[in-house]
Amino acid sequence: KLYNQLQETKGNIRVFCRCRPLSKEEVSTGCTTIVDFDAAKDGDLGILTGGATRKTFKFDRVYTPKDDQVDVFADASSLVLSVLDGYNVCIFAYGQTGTGKTFTMEGTEQNRGVNYRTLEQLFRTAEERSDTFVYNISVSVLEVYNEQIRDLLATAPPSKKLEIKQASEGFHNVPGIVEAKVENIKAVWNVLQTGSSARAVGSNNVNEHSSRSHCMLCIMVRSKNLISGECTRSKLWLVDLAGSERLAKTDAQGERLKEAQSINKSLSALGDVIAALANKSSHIPYRNSKLTHLLQDSLGGDSKTLMFVQISPSDKDSGETLSSLNFATRVR
Ligand code: ADP
Ligand code: MG
Repeated sequence: KLYNQLQETKGNIRVFCRCRPLSKEEVSTGCTTIVDFDAAKDGDLGILTGGATRKTFKFDRVYTPKDDQVDVFADASSLVLSVLDGYNVCIFAYGQTGTGKTFTMEGTEQNRGVNYRTLEQLFRTAEERSDTFVYNISVSVLEVYNEQIRDLLATAPPSKKLEIKQASEGFHNVPGIVEAKVENIKAVWNVLQTGSSARAVGSNNVNEHSSRSHCMLCIMVRSKNLISGECTRSKLWLVDLAGSERLAKTDAQGERLKEAQSINKSLSALGDVIAALANKSSHIPYRNSKLTHLLQDSLGGDSKTLMFVQISPSDKDSGETLSSLNFATRVR
């Protein structure tokens, strides 16, 4: 609902900021909260950056650690529904590792996130509209790691490298990628879990690996209006981005350095694309990274974009928190 209310006065990009609670470990080691939510209702966030210094940031919405998955999805649900009306949509979570990107997008079995709730909402609404529309919903799950695309639903290694192709005007795809048709909501959690567990394959540390790759869920919707005969095709990207933190100087070598450079390249490219769209620039640099190239159809034009900036409340993370908030300010 909120998304559409804002729609009338603004462009197609929204930024919601979500702050996780202090963890038990942070509490026990004496970390303090530097975030103030006094004006969170108005979308204002205050950050105490040492001494009496206070910086404020403005968002379309601010979620405090008390807000749960239901609160968060409530504001995104009208946005995801627009994919049934033929719009392309992109929702992504940006932030330092450990700030709740995966919690927001994927969630846990007990606390399901945006990905599951989106599909649940799509199936529910498709059912309500079944007198007039036939919807066909399929999903792909992929990962971008070191500027290479990996199909997380593939059961066998690909015969050749996965590349992005332009199939027609405004429609890009990755030939050879698995598109799993999902018939109903019961099938969804399993498909999402299959994708999620495939991220770990071939890496010795699951969490570390997933913090260095972008995990991307693409929901493709085809609709047919049974009365007018009109058909539409649209897609919704749900993206759990790689951690935005900068590499410690001591780690700046070998494989780590390569990973860090790929992440840096793709996150800057994402920032550049969104900033170019916000400034109504004539050239939008989609081709600068696999991430932005994949998302091309769902960023800009009449597509709708939502970014979650995830932050930590802890004083020990203040540097990364400020840098995430500044990134968000740039795209807003
Ligand atoms: P990221 O994907 O950004 O690295 P995670 O989603 O893995 O971060 O979150 C880190 C930890 O914090 C996890 O244990 C997660 O369950 C917890 N967490 C994150 N956000 C919240 C929240 N809003 N409420 C409760 N716990 C959260
Ligand atoms: Mg994660």
